[in-house]
Amino acid sequence: MERSVVKFSHCDKDIFCFFVPEQCPECGVSFSGRRLEEAPVSIPNPFSNGHKTPCAFLVAPAEESSLRDFDGGSDLHTGITNTNGVVYNYTKDGVRRDHHGWERCISIPLVKPDMYNLIDQWDQYLEKFSTEQTWDPLWQSFNEENHNCYNYTLMYINCVLATQAKPALSKDEFTQSFILPRIKRASKYLTLCEEIAHCHFYIVDSPPKVTEGEGKSD
Ligand SMILES: [Zn+2]
Repeated sequence: MERSVVKFSHCDKDIFCFFVPEQCPECGVSFSGRRLEEAPVSIPNPFSNGHKTPCAFLVAPAEESSLRDFDGGSDLHTGITNTNGVVYNYTKDGVRRDHHGWERCISIPLVKPDMYNLIDQWDQYLEKFSTEQTWDPLWQSFNEENHNCYNYTLMYINCVLATQAKPALSKDEFTQSFILPRIKRASKYLTLCEEIAHCHFYIVDSPPKVTEGEGKSD
């Protein structure tokens, strides 16, 4: 069971922890019987169970450390779920259909709940796409550079976009706009968890508060 991170503010600091303590780790003031100025907020966990996110793009770090310096390369494994949470992913042996193993990953939904037609066709599309010759290891072999799990998922996403009459994404666009922001968030979250596990708290200066009337020049 994963612990969740909460943030509260005191002493002009943002204090991240797993449990709000009885006293402020900065100034030692006791919180018992008092209220914090602002309620603690929970920091959303960027990881979820990929098998429970249908029709999604999944990123699973090979190791947690590989999230840190992800550059769009091959240290991450990516896959696509069907409507039942089976993860289709391309490996050296061809396309695998995983029923487990993706319990902790970053999931990016690819369809909106009202896209009924697409959802209806999804499993067929995915199965058909995955049986194309290009993913047959006897026909074309896996290549770390340009024929890997990332190409497989991106090509599939582009096929889906084409059915929606939308333009294809380049590998760069996909990486920059979809993947990197989420990877960064996940990496930051892991750092927080490590710090907290080590020192109980992770404390940073609170960002300056914008008071009424300031910074609202639009
Ligand atoms: Zn304090």
